[in-house]
Amino acid sequence: MIHVEVYRYNPAVDTEPRMEMYEVEDSFRQRMVLDVLEHLKERDPGIAYRRSCREGVCGSDGMNINGQNALACVAPVSEVLAGIWVAQKSNYGSGSPLVGKKAAERLVIRPLTGMPVIRDLVVDQTLFFDQYRHIKPWLINDDPPPTAERLQSPEERARLDGLYECILCGCCTSGCPSWWWNPDKYLGPAVLLQAQRFLIDSRDTATADRLTALDDQFSVFRCRDIQNCTTVCPKGLNPMKAISDIRRRLLQEGT
Ligand code: SF4
Repeated sequence: MIHVEVYRYNPAVDTEPRMEMYEVEDSFRQRMVLDVLEHLKERDPGIAYRRSCREGVCGSDGMNINGQNALACVAPVSEVLAGIWVAQKSNYGSGSPLVGKKAAERLVIRPLTGMPVIRDLVVDQTLFFDQYRHIKPWLINDDPPPTAERLQSPEERARLDGLYECILCGCCTSGCPSWWWNPDKYLGPAVLLQAQRFLIDSRDTATADRLTALDDQFSVFRCRDIQNCTTVCPKGLNPMKAISDIRRRLLQEGT
């Protein structure tokens, strides 16, 4: 059997959060973490979490799984349970049924870190999307529109690779200590990766204004190169490189 711990907290009825213990059949090792949650929800319909596409595209089921932010639908249980000993007596108390269990038998599912919990695994991402709106995530170009498309060369188009694929799951921003410390001032890795996506788009004509909007002590420069963002990104993107590119440009062109 696989032991599963799920963070449970419903502020309407609970005075404090708790970890709810479950067990699922060993056969779930061949499935994804989201399959485990779907199975548990049939037994316990009160568990709250977001999910939609089940394909790693919508970005809605980001959560903290065995200590690392990930998308539950593309997190193989077998890989999550890859043999690390984590059930320490000091963490769980001598009466815990998990004491002495290998990580290979344990799945610990918590909400994304650093964001307020609405209920169980559902977090409030209002600030995250407010910051996203702040960087104006759309093409700005007031030139008269061409009769067909605004064309790009293959090289100009290729510069967007590694940026446009972001699905705004929030796993990187939620895992960033610099964002935990200054969530109202530092824009965080996901939003800055998106900012870079528009800064280098050859069709966009608002580059100077975009750089000016980022040119302060906190928005970009609070990044401390911790690299959690790049480690956790389920799409294999590199937000830290995007942040470094913006910083370099601000140092060259900013005030
Ligand atoms: Fe998610 Fe990666 Fe985009 Fe961050 S950069 S929001 S981890 S897809």
